[in-house]
Amino acid sequence: MFLYSSYVIIFYGELEETSDSELQQIVSSARNDKIWANINIKKRVEIISKLIDLLEKNKEAIAHVMANEMGKPLKAGKHEIEIAKKRVIDYCDMIPEFIKDEILFEDNKEKNIMTFSPLGVVAVISPWNSPVFVPLAMIIPPLLCGNNVLWKPSEYTSFTGLKLAELFSNLKKAGLPENAFQIVIGGKDAGKKIVENNIDMVALTGSIRAGKEVMKASAGKLHKFVLELGGKDPAIILEDAELDKTAHEIVKSSTMYTGQVCFGVERVYCHENIYDKFVERVTEKTKKLVAGNPLDEKTDIGPFAVKFQMEKVLSHIDDALSKGARLLYGGKRIGDKGYFMAPGVIVNVNHNMKIMQEETFGPITPVMKFKDVEEAIKLANDSIYGLTASIWTTDLKKGEEIARKIEAGTVEINRHGMSKAGCPWGGCKQSGIGRIYSKEGVREFCNIKHVWVVK
Ligand code: NAD
Repeated sequence: MFLYSSYVIIFYGELEETSDSELQQIVSSARNDKIWANINIKKRVEIISKLIDLLEKNKEAIAHVMANEMGKPLKAGKHEIEIAKKRVIDYCDMIPEFIKDEILFEDNKEKNIMTFSPLGVVAVISPWNSPVFVPLAMIIPPLLCGNNVLWKPSEYTSFTGLKLAELFSNLKKAGLPENAFQIVIGGKDAGKKIVENNIDMVALTGSIRAGKEVMKASAGKLHKFVLELGGKDPAIILEDAELDKTAHEIVKSSTMYTGQVCFGVERVYCHENIYDKFVERVTEKTKKLVAGNPLDEKTDIGPFAVKFQMEKVLSHIDDALSKGARLLYGGKRIGDKGYFMAPGVIVNVNHNMKIMQEETFGPITPVMKFKDVEEAIKLANDSIYGLTASIWTTDLKKGEEIARKIEAGTVEINRHGMSKAGCPWGGCKQSGIGRIYSKEGVREFCNIKHVWVVK
C-alpha cells in the first residue's frame, strides 16, 4: 500500500498491509485471551489513563504525522489531540459508573441485578478525517468495558494510526495485555475481512456506503454493530440571533478541518430580514481564514486529505453554479499542485443542488433564505441525513421548541458541532444506527446480563 502526502503530492511512505494469515492470528488471539476481561475496572482505568500523559508528550509528533500524511494544519491537529485527551480523561472518570451493577428489584424473596460484562472482541473501523479523536473516542469505551479491541485506521491515515498504536504499546508496559489492543493495516477489503471474521461487534465510523455494507455483513454473522455515518448538518439562523457571534461560529464550523468534519455546518438557513447582513459577516470572516501549508502554525485551512475529496467538493460547487448559485468568495482550487481550495461562501442555493443535498465535506458555506420558522424546519428536515443541527436565537425557549422538531441525533442551540462524553452521540435517518458516548452508548459494548437471585 502506498501513501502520498496530499499537500505536496510527494511519495510519503510505504506500508505492508496486514495479511490474511496475520488477521486470522490477530482475531484468534483476541478471542482466546481473557486476561483483560478478568482485570477489574479500577485497574483497567489505571492502565488506560496512562494514555493521557502519552498523548500530551506525543502531541507535537502526532500532529506532524497528521499534517504530513493528510494535510491537517498543525494548529488543528494539536486541537484534535487535545479534545481526544479530554475524552480519555472523561471516559476514565465516567465509565466505571456507567457499567456498575444496578439492582433493579429487591425484596425479602428475590433480587434482580443488571450486570455489564464484556462482549469479547470488538472491531473498531475508522475514517481518515479525524484520525486521532474519532478512533480514540470509539476504542476506549469497549476497552474499558473489558473487551479485546482490534482497530483498523483508514487506509489514508495509516501512519497516524501506527503512531497512535505506539502509545498503546507503551500501555502494554503498564499492564495492558498483549491481545487487548491490536492494529490492522489495510483498506476497504481489510475492513470487510474483519467484519466477516469471528468478532462480537463492529463499531464503524464512515460513509453511508460502508455503513450499508457493514450492516449486511453483520447480518450474516449476527453480531452487534454501531454505525456512525455522514451528515449534511443544517443551521437555522432566526431573526433575533446574535449576528456577529453566529456568523463567526458558522464559519468556524463549516470550515473546520478544511470542512472535512461529519458534524460541520453544511447548510445554512437564514431569516430573510437579517439575510443580507448575515451573509456580509460570513463573507468577511471567511476572507480572514488563512489557507496554505499545514506545517505553518498560522494556517487555518489545509489541503484536502485526498484527491477524490477535492474533486467532490469542486463538483458540488460547479453543479450549484450551473443551476444559478453565486459564489461570493473563494470556492476555487488554489494552484495546480496539491489539493488546496480557498474557503468559500455560496448563495442563491436551493434543494435541487447537490451542495444542499449530498455530504460535501469541504470548506464552503451555502446560505439560503427562509420566511418563517415552519419553512426553516421543513428545509432542515428535507434530507436523508440526520446527524446534528443547530438553531441560533436569543429566545432559548423558542430554540428548544424548534430543536424538538428537527430530525437529528444532536441539536444544539447557539453552538454547532461538539460532543460530550456523558451525552449520546449518533445519527438518525441514514446518518447512523445506534449511539456512542453516554451511559447508553458505552453499555452497547457490553453483554447486559440479568442475574436473578432467589433468596
Ligand atoms: P469510508 O466509509 O470510505 O471508510 C471508513 C472506514 O471504513 C475506512 O477505514 C475504510 O477502509 C473502511 N471500510 C470501507 N468500506 C468498508 C466495508 N465494506 N467494510 C468494512 N470496512 C469498510 O469513509 P471515509 O471516507 O474514510 O470517511 C468519511 C465519512 O465518515 C464521511 O461520510 C463522514 O461524515 C463520516 N464520519 C462520521 C462521523 C460520525 O461521528 N458520525 C465521524 C467522522 C466521520
